[in-house]
Amino acid sequence: MVANQPAKAVRKAARPAKVVRAKPGRRASERIASILETLAKTYPNAVCALRHRNAFELTIATILSAQTTDVGVNKVTPELFQMYPTPAKLAAAPLPELERIIHATGFYRAKAKNIQGAARVLVEKFGGKVPQTIEELTRLPGVARKTANVVLGSWFGIASGIVVDTHVGRLARRLELTQETDPVKVEKDLEKLIPKDHWIQFSHELIHHGRQICVSRKPRCLDCPLEPLCHAADKTWNSDG
Ligand code: SF4
Repeated sequence: MVANQPAKAVRKAARPAKVVRAKPGRRASERIASILETLAKTYPNAVCALRHRNAFELTIATILSAQTTDVGVNKVTPELFQMYPTPAKLAAAPLPELERIIHATGFYRAKAKNIQGAARVLVEKFGGKVPQTIEELTRLPGVARKTANVVLGSWFGIASGIVVDTHVGRLARRLELTQETDPVKVEKDLEKLIPKDHWIQFSHELIHHGRQICVSRKPRCLDCPLEPLCHAADKTWNSDG
């Protein structure tokens, strides 16, 4: 050990002896298959954490989830959907009332306009029903590719793409599945590597893994079943790391 080496750096470098690395030269497709298998075993019941009873509620909840947690959204949606259970009712709601209900989710003025705007487009363009294509869904205010992929995958079971939120982007980079930071480019890279029949579940599993183990700061690498497959530069081996 170098005498003046910072303690933090020492802790990060000290890997436990029991951890076994992946064999060098392992083919990329085998590595991807191992990642998918490990995630599926670890999170066999991974589903969207936003509470919803239908496609309309999931669309609105996903719009509200921008820049906040699903837990926070789940606290406001029961009142919202009790008072405005259909696109027509939400479209006609008083805007200040919507702002009051969703206030805790942050950016409440913009979000209130978006959810009401989305409800109006659903009523005026789609007969009050949530459409089932990414092109149509992204015509709703507040709905970009990520939200559209959530709705299509989680409610309709349509693998339109891979949901790239902050967790999926971070984990995809740590697992060397992409070097991109732009979510659309990350999604394109992932879609080249991940078989389409895994797209929906892969998104759910990575989001769960990002929340529980591979957190942004101080990922819990000692507890991570993907560790033998991961070469991330910021692996962390204890809570002080
Ligand atoms: S080993 Fe660490 S950095 Fe790699 S995926 Fe697991 S928790 Fe994330």
